[in-house]
Amino acid sequence: MPVALGVGAMYDWDVHIQSSCRNCGADDHIDTADKGRALKTVEPQDTCVCSGIRPSEGRAETSLCTVLAFFCSDQCLESWRLENNPDTLGYRLSPDEGLGVGRPIFGQTLLPG
Ligand SMILES: [Zn+2]
Repeated sequence: MPVALGVGAMYDWDVHIQSSCRNCGADDHIDTADKGRALKTVEPQDTCVCSGIRPSEGRAETSLCTVLAFFCSDQCLESWRLENNPDTLGYRLSPDEGLGVGRPIFGQTLLPG
């Protein structure tokens, strides 16, 4: 799940993210650098992120999280979107852009108050 891109910054660690393309099931692997604040490697290189927009219906796992996903390619993202969520608004993000979204959300979570 793309929010995983912000977890490294939250813990101040580099992380390895293993996910699956929501469309075809192919493995996606992402390693971070600079204590979760930058990307080190992305496999496959065409990996992209869908950051959909869906109103909260109580629990994130049954609303927003259903339209946040990794894809192995733009073609898979578009196939999945057309088949499953053709009317859902959202953005296609590169992994680096996804890190830029996830880091501010989770990066400050564990800082001393
Ligand atoms: Zn795929």
